[in-house]
Amino acid sequence: MAEIIAIVNQKGGVGKTTSAVNVAACLAAAGQTTLLIDADPQGNSTSGLGISKANLQKSFYHLLMDEARLEDIVMDTPVANLHILPANRDLLGVDHDLAVKEARETQLKRLLDSQLRRPDGSDKYNFVIIDSPPNLNILAINIMAAASRLIIPTPPEYLPLEGLADLIDTFKRVRATVNPRLSILGVLITMYMATNNLSKEVTQNLRQNMGQLVFDTIIPKNVRLAEAPSFCVPIIMYDPRSAGSLSYQAVTREIMDRVGLK
Ligand code: ATP
Ligand code: MG
Repeated sequence: MAEIIAIVNQKGGVGKTTSAVNVAACLAAAGQTTLLIDADPQGNSTSGLGISKANLQKSFYHLLMDEARLEDIVMDTPVANLHILPANRDLLGVDHDLAVKEARETQLKRLLDSQLRRPDGSDKYNFVIIDSPPNLNILAINIMAAASRLIIPTPPEYLPLEGLADLIDTFKRVRATVNPRLSILGVLITMYMATNNLSKEVTQNLRQNMGQLVFDTIIPKNVRLAEAPSFCVPIIMYDPRSAGSLSYQAVTREIMDRVGLK
């Protein structure tokens, strides 16, 4: 089965989309056939890879409502081996639509379980990376129910950290109910500022409290990472030697290591 990794944090603006797009691109560049699922009505992963949100015939919403099949929605991206299930505003009312479904928390899991394989039983993708919305609503629960592992990006500041306890409670509840094999692959420190004492302090704190769960690699604050989406490509294509690019390549190696790939 494909490794399904969801990038989650109910706090907004912590680097979920930046991490999802760039980790997915680095995995693809390492030869891993990868599907990026944009599961956020903001559609930032979609537009960040140059796909026009306004003109989508079908999107992730239609998969989730079982109105279209994965292979009819998936699109190519500027990166070889990287495919995307795009999203747009269609997803805005999805919690309401899911609430009336019978198995409302496991709708996505059921659909992916059956559609991520070819008829001969082989996997279509080595990795599926899911970019999540900034909340813990029913869609977010569906994402955690469908994933095998979670990556939690967080800037090293106190406010974003406050939400971590709620997120971990939700993770435990999902694991205890609909997805017993779910695990946390790692906490990823994002937007780190080496000149800022708070960055250093909170990072130290996180490592003390969460130990090995925190990735060794730290993603620095790097303006090239913020610029890349407006050029519709991931950082490894926009500025491959930038600090942001090198850090996403390094954390991708850690991710492959942690899931048992070299
Ligand atoms: P949302 O919760 O709204 O979906 P998010 O968690 O997906 O937000 P991003 O969109 O990845 O967060 O990042 C928020 C903003 O910060 C974006 O403008 C992004 O380009 C910028 N950004 C993310 N990571 C970095 C970084 N390491 N250095 C500089 N800018 C960054
Ligand atoms: Mg986002």
